[in-house]
Amino acid sequence: MEGVGFYKHGGPEVLKRIDAPDPIPGNRDVVIRSIATSVNRVDILSRVGYHGLEIEMPHFPGSDIIGIVEKVGRDVDSVSVGEKVTANNTYGCGRCQACRSGDATLCADWKMMGLDVNGAYASMVKIPASSIFRPPRRFSDYEIASMSHNMTVVWRALRTIGKSSEGEVVVVRGASGNAGIFATMIAKALKMKVIALSRNSEKRRRLRQLGANLALNPEDSKEHLKKAVFDFTDGKGADMVIESFGATAGESIGWLRPGGKAVVFGSIAGTQAKVSIPSLYLNGASILGTHNASTKDFSEAFEFAVKHNIRPIIARIMEISQAGRAQTMLEQAEPFGKIILKHG
Ligand SMILES: [Zn+2]
Repeated sequence: MEGVGFYKHGGPEVLKRIDAPDPIPGNRDVVIRSIATSVNRVDILSRVGYHGLEIEMPHFPGSDIIGIVEKVGRDVDSVSVGEKVTANNTYGCGRCQACRSGDATLCADWKMMGLDVNGAYASMVKIPASSIFRPPRRFSDYEIASMSHNMTVVWRALRTIGKSSEGEVVVVRGASGNAGIFATMIAKALKMKVIALSRNSEKRRRLRQLGANLALNPEDSKEHLKKAVFDFTDGKGADMVIESFGATAGESIGWLRPGGKAVVFGSIAGTQAKVSIPSLYLNGASILGTHNASTKDFSEAFEFAVKHNIRPIIARIMEISQAGRAQTMLEQAEPFGKIILKHG
């Protein structure tokens, strides 16, 4: 197989075309020939590396996938060679209670395609058959490659973890990023009211077009932002904040109504947050953490997208050979929507 990957952590320059042996499926695995993937923040995280991340080199990022089943392991009867599939990128040991209940995100030994095991920047990807899904026919290949990661993560944050309800007010931080765009669209389809945060005025306009009730600039003063959230909610505070920023969780707590929740699914802005503990217990507020999607989240998210006609926004379609440039775009001048990387 071939693809774009790296032999050592570093900047975008470490990404190069690499030839590697084809993956061999274990008894319960499937090997997928990748048609396309899309660029996610996690691709950059795996490239740069962080303390505790152990990956075999060379490594191929890519946490979204659409492709064709190329090989199946001896014990796989749920899917056949030649079928078009996508996959939930997160899987576990397969034996613990969390795995047996279908929620590998809670497995002590979870793995993520593209982060710590090879992903779809490679032309062939090995993944357990239990992670494979047949994509709804309504969506194009590139749409599926835009949805399998961000949309399912956000669905879990809003519904499974956040237990959001119709009519509730949710603040979406980083709303013009790919997870934020899905969060805005899904929250609207759930009949929630959305306060979207983005630094870019044109992107705030696009978010309002997608249904955000209010779009704020997070670079405005803290006092102004808090007042805007409380004014919008008639002085009550938001029911929920969802964010992948991490470092801002303390400020998010200050925007909540009594009993409100901040759901955190990343730490793009930093791994440490300053949180006022009295603002949690005196207000009955919670900070809830989550990452990726269970089997149930994954299928529910796609069912919801079909039912409510949620379609991803695709900003660019690029060749896999341009992966370095695509990652730099995401880091420096993120377009509004997904960047697809297609295999030739
Ligand atoms: Zn497990």
